[in-house]
Amino acid sequence: MSITQLNETHDQNLQSWVAGANDPASDFPIQNLPLGWFRRRQSVENFRPGVAIGEQIVDLLAARDLLPAHVVAALEHCRDGLNPFLARGNALSSTLRAALSALLRRGSAQQAALSACLVAQADADLGLPCQVGDFSDFFTGIHHATATGKLFRPENPLMPNYKWIPVAYHGRSSSIGVNQYFPRPKGQVKSPGHDTPVFQPSRRLDFELEMGVVIGRGNALGSAIPISEAEEHACGMVLLNDWSARDVQGWESQPLGPFLGKNFATTISPWIVSMEALAPFRLPFSRDANEPQPLPYLESAANRDHGMLDIDLEVLIATPAMRAAGLPPARLARSNYKHAWWTLAQTITHHASNGCNLQSGDLLGTGTLSGPVPADAGSLLELTSGGKSPLTLPNGESRTFLQDGDAVMLRAHCERAGFRRIGFGEARGEVLPAL
Ligand code: MN
Repeated sequence: MSITQLNETHDQNLQSWVAGANDPASDFPIQNLPLGWFRRRQSVENFRPGVAIGEQIVDLLAARDLLPAHVVAALEHCRDGLNPFLARGNALSSTLRAALSALLRRGSAQQAALSACLVAQADADLGLPCQVGDFSDFFTGIHHATATGKLFRPENPLMPNYKWIPVAYHGRSSSIGVNQYFPRPKGQVKSPGHDTPVFQPSRRLDFELEMGVVIGRGNALGSAIPISEAEEHACGMVLLNDWSARDVQGWESQPLGPFLGKNFATTISPWIVSMEALAPFRLPFSRDANEPQPLPYLESAANRDHGMLDIDLEVLIATPAMRAAGLPPARLARSNYKHAWWTLAQTITHHASNGCNLQSGDLLGTGTLSGPVPADAGSLLELTSGGKSPLTLPNGESRTFLQDGDAVMLRAHCERAGFRRIGFGEARGEVLPAL
């Protein structure tokens, strides 16, 4: 079965006996069923595999007697994250999805048995869903690439390679987390007009609104991944905030990098939304005839037909003053993954095109997914024109870059007539004072 194919688990009329899943505003209806890694809050039990449904989590190992034996066997191999399960490929997660879809449906004969396996999300700590061996961050958001390029090269914002090659850098995996609290990074900064750099806390701390794809089945070293098979290696997607210290990044990245300007923290959302759940939200990939066309290894009929994804994105901020006053987070920008220059399949195929082996749990960031208009940029660097035009928040505060105590939330959802809306939950991170 192709992961872009629709099946009965996508039926918009399916309802769950878990009441919260039927709330139209829920990110986790029975049509979503994302995988995560959790334990009961403040317990000492091992983290374990779970699936989000409404405001609950299905404890998959507690439900082992209700699930297919070969699915349970793979889940039982998961000790430090979902990697062993994800490595088995999308057919296995599809089997789990089909089983849970039936078990969680209104009228299921197993309701009583499965009810005993639910843990409220409010009573759970969510961990990193898998061990991330390697993290690569692409630069597929052409509106971001253009807007940030303009800050430095107004006449020629895009580098000559941009429209030909999916540009990326190798990032740091040890500092990836969910629901992160991290100190403002320190680093070398050289201000214009000064002869020497200084080592100090970053004054230009920023977020980046991105998506990430999690690799399921890997490829052997020395083997490439043809674009026709690329999405068989993607198990699903998460939100990704690629926190960036712009002052550190600017001084150090001449010409290598980014390095310390980015590797101090990267926050992802805790639930992996499967490619199967995303199947109803595919879009064609197209290139204007007057633009460079993808080289043959990045080109396929399937990629043209449905290589792109329609995922609505937003970024919100909650400052300490807003939280103290009980105010809701303020939205800074909205965007959509569909504006990217390259598709997810193209980034996977390009990554392995030299024989580089991708491994289960690897994370590939899309790069900042700014919208087509400046007000919908996915970073403060763009929203404030490089820090020159402060933003005014609804409570009257202003920001150029992030201040201590600021929390940033990324959210995303998919909507299409004839299908149930699904969401990604939240990637939340909070800036602590520098050490
Ligand atoms: Mn980035």
